[in-house]
Amino acid sequence: MVLRIKVDEEKCTGCGICKEECPKGAKIWNVDKKAMATNLRYCHLCTICASKCPEGAILIERDAENETEKQDNEEDLGN
Ligand code: SF4
Ligand code: SF4
Repeated sequence: MVLRIKVDEEKCTGCGICKEECPKGAKIWNVDKKAMATNLRYCHLCTICASKCPEGAILIERDAENETEKQDNEEDLGN
């Protein structure tokens, strides 16, 4: 799975709510003048940040690129 969290710089005011509300806030979010999600390996996709952002500036994208690989592994286990 590939995960991206994009912050729209035009909309972001740097209020820091995303960092405050995120359960892993300090590990993931870096908020200076604008917010940036930096350590996405800590993210568990709860989507709280996106729902709490007052500007609607956060976009969470994920795609399941590894689904085929996962299915192959499951078949192997059956042998
Ligand atoms: S909550 Fe939204 S507007 Fe506030 S810092 Fe985070 S991304 Fe920017
Ligand atoms: S989806 Fe949840 S864990 Fe991930 S950055 Fe947003 S609030 Fe934090």
